[in-house]
Amino acid sequence: KAQACALGQVGFSVILLDEKPVSRQPGRPFDGRVSALGRASCRLLEALELWPAIAPDAQPIRDILVSDGRLGRRPSPLHLHFDHLDGAAGEAGEPLGHIIANQQLRTALHKAISLLPRVSIRSPARVSAMERDAFGVTLTLEDGETLRAPLCIAADGSGSPLREMAGIRSITWEYAQTGIVVTAHHERPHDGVAHEYFLPGGPFAILPMTGNRSSLVWTEPHARAKALFALDQDSFDAELRARFGAQWGRIESDADRFLYPLSFRHARDYIADRLALAGDAAHTIHPIAGQGFNLGLRDVAVLAEVLHDARRLGLDIGARTVLERYQSWRRFDNVSLSLMMDMLNRLFRMDTPLARLARDIGMGAFGRIGPLRRLASRHAAGDMGDLPKLLRGEAL
Ligand SMILES: Cc1cc2nc3c(=O)[nH]c(=O)nc-3n(C[C@H](O)[C@H](O)[C@H](O)COP(=O)(O)OP(=O)(O)OC[C@H]3O[C@@H](n4cnc5c(N)ncnc54)[C@H](O)[C@@H]3O)c2cc1C
Repeated sequence: KAQACALGQVGFSVILLDEKPVSRQPGRPFDGRVSALGRASCRLLEALELWPAIAPDAQPIRDILVSDGRLGRRPSPLHLHFDHLDGAAGEAGEPLGHIIANQQLRTALHKAISLLPRVSIRSPARVSAMERDAFGVTLTLEDGETLRAPLCIAADGSGSPLREMAGIRSITWEYAQTGIVVTAHHERPHDGVAHEYFLPGGPFAILPMTGNRSSLVWTEPHARAKALFALDQDSFDAELRARFGAQWGRIESDADRFLYPLSFRHARDYIADRLALAGDAAHTIHPIAGQGFNLGLRDVAVLAEVLHDARRLGLDIGARTVLERYQSWRRFDNVSLSLMMDMLNRLFRMDTPLARLARDIGMGAFGRIGPLRRLASRHAAGDMGDLPKLLRGEAL
């Protein structure tokens, strides 16, 4: 949707296909997830003039606390603290990013694109076949309708049917972990602080939302996650309290819980004849630091700029040379961040006393070296490297 919005705003004719309607069950959460958006992603949403619709529901992230933990014990005192007063990812005092529910983002994007005269939305609509030739691509929908365009952008998620139809292979592995996602209501305010506790089963992230609410991404080995997921409300909340600690006061979770089995996937190519992959279709990463959607928005910004430039120069937007510019611009950032998240997860899953000691000392030292800490902060905010216009907050 973000890609359709970016292209539609500069006058491209876009047909947006989505197999899921914008809201499956009115009043119910769409996928339960929130996205922690770095500053560059927020600038993109500002450049697309979406921010006013999103801002009321976006919770600023003031600080991020990262610590190694064990159930029943206090977190290690050697933690990492990213402070908005550091000015690492912008002016000192500016938030490190914002947290927004995926459903709200989806609704805001849907509203914005439905106002664009050259974007048409087909939803629910499912692609059943794709044919590509030298001049364009033909998609057949499940209802038999066919659509023709010079370029198809596959932003159809990790399992990307279009990527499979094009025969693009991926490097992939499973994490043997499942993320439980749920919203918790707590008595005391979170003060805009996001927490990441590294517990032996996997990371336990508390992401502040507007009001006294936080979204939890609670990672455990598959069987344990399923067992926790199946608990009745009281037992589930008791498990939550054991992980939260006392500082939030009374805690209750929403009845809606979601399970996400976690895997790594990276497409060997982001492009093929008349086809470009974007977002999770190109790269799926561990949600350990909430970077997946941010990477996808960076793809969106680069692809929009590359296509816009090509059209201005009178080039065919589906030409291989045009798509190669997109691929080479995005590949290094995507590969390096994906592997970094994978390494972090492996490092924090080691549960020997020596590994814990090394981690604690490493985090303590890292936290005290200002330039290193600021570099990590800028990386997470998406403020590194050759930024396309939208990520700098500029219109195309
Ligand atoms: C537990 C968890 C927590 C996360 N937290 C964060 C976070 O805090 N910050 C962050 O940046 N990222 C986070 N992520 C990652 C983020 O959710 C994903 O990177 C992001 O949703 C990918 O977006 P996408 O549009 O590429 O794919 P998807 O969100 O999977 O969307 C794919 C779309 O394609 C449509 N589709 C699929 N197949 C077809 C078809 N055949 N025909 C038509 N339409 C089709 C689907 O309906 C869907 O709308 C998290 C991930 C997980 C699992």
